Amino acid sequence: MVEVILEGWRAAAGDLLLGSRCPGCSTAAWGLCLACRDQVANHRPTLTRPDPCPAGFPRTVTSAPYDSVLRGAITAHKERQALGLSRYLGERLAMSVQALLALEAGRTRGRRIAIVPVPSAAAAIRARGYDATWALARVAARRLAGGSRIVATRALAQRRGVGDQVGRSAAERAANLRGGLVLRRVRPPDLVVLVDDLVTTGASLTEAARVLGAAGVEVLGAATIAATVRLRRPRERGGGLEIGHLEG
Ligand SMILES: [Zn+2]
Repeated sequence: MVEVILEGWRAAAGDLLLGSRCPGCSTAAWGLCLACRDQVANHRPTLTRPDPCPAGFPRTVTSAPYDSVLRGAITAHKERQALGLSRYLGERLAMSVQALLALEAGRTRGRRIAIVPVPSAAAAIRARGYDATWALARVAARRLAGGSRIVATRALAQRRGVGDQVGRSAAERAANLRGGLVLRRVRPPDLVVLVDDLVTTGASLTEAARVLGAAGVEVLGAATIAATVRLRRPRERGGGLEIGHLEG
């Protein structure tokens, strides 16, 4: 009995001494290990579109495919409050936003841009203890260093009664969300970039773009950290973030 307790204590002390585990590959590391960071760093932002693509889906840039590394990191950040990952994930999100802004440079000149997170259900935020997507939106806005030109704004909220999207099919997600988002009473943003950690069926981004558009708010497009759908090859030009026009 004493042996068992000691064993448990040693394991706990070991975790403390060695640090926790990498959320991407479970090796002992503080936060995401270098190998996992390298794996994600191989990916550049690219346009993505779900298949099938919902009508009204906004033009969306993602930073990487939703592989085991990003799945581990996004889940740890959202579900286990691994706040040390906010900066890393927020910077990946900022890369996507920056690529979208570069693609749409003609529409952004001289305008204030609001980075608006797709809202989670209030109950989910309460249960998790914090709003992960909002945290990432704020990091991304700071990282883009646009001064007061680029700000994060919680312009959207979920109505009560909208359930979590996890575990639902594409059709169920769309039905669950329809009419589920509302524009909050904040200063109307000039030009919006929607952000989310992940794009899967596209239902959340499509509904968010619809609600903003119906209120007369111009949506430039959307940016995510990862996408579960197949990626379209970027037409790389000089190794920068330029990703060209890829549709069609
Ligand atoms: Zn790792």
